[in-house]
Amino acid sequence: MIWTISLKPMRRHWRIFAVVMIVLLGAPAWWKEVHAGARGGTNPHLIWYVNTSRKVVALTFDDGPSPSATPRILSMLRAAHAKATFFMLGQAAKAYPEVVRQVARQGMEIGNHTYAHINLKVHSMAQDEADLAKAQKTIQTITGHAPSLMRPPYGAYNASLIPVAQALHLKIILWSWTEDPRDWANPGVAAIVSRVLNHIQPGDIVLFHDGGGDRRQTVEALALIIKDLTAQGYHMVTVSRLLKIGEARS
Ligand SMILES: [Zn+2]
Repeated sequence: MIWTISLKPMRRHWRIFAVVMIVLLGAPAWWKEVHAGARGGTNPHLIWYVNTSRKVVALTFDDGPSPSATPRILSMLRAAHAKATFFMLGQAAKAYPEVVRQVARQGMEIGNHTYAHINLKVHSMAQDEADLAKAQKTIQTITGHAPSLMRPPYGAYNASLIPVAQALHLKIILWSWTEDPRDWANPGVAAIVSRVLNHIQPGDIVLFHDGGGDRRQTVEALALIIKDLTAQGYHMVTVSRLLKIGEARS
């Protein structure tokens, strides 16, 4: 009698234990899947940098276009025969279409940074797709070309972004972990310069911002960064060009 009484709650505990174990054992696999083997794996959908020994880097600019910073950045890039990638917000592109055309005319790459700078992790897949599609359409209407790259705002993504991006024929581009100078927080020109140059290596994708506030520090730092990279023998190319040069790493 004692056995039958005590076995029932035990079985229940076993079931709970089994569920907890499945979750605990499954979570790392899920995490690995989402983060694609975090740093060092290859996932064709999530790209952080490129594996190459050639001295090439991709400078990228988020949150623009802006009528003040973007044209100044463009003239610096032109003077240095450098190319870069601009991950634009659909709403900013709509507000400043002439700046978008200027970026395109100069042979720069334009990527999708969502329409309204939404956090793709907190919305439904349908909302994510609608927002990204709206940005695609806005940019295509202005330039005649739909972007083939996207970058999630805040670098925030989860597994459901992968099918959404695939449906829109967009590769998800993040950035090299050592190449986020946090210029958006205006830490000072010297800080932005040293944060970028201290760890730069071939195949890096560097994150800057040409919108979202006063970007004078970014512009000033960029002049020094371009000068130094050029002196070191680096070529600055678009992300799509970088992806043709080396193996994408996630
Ligand atoms: Zn952003």
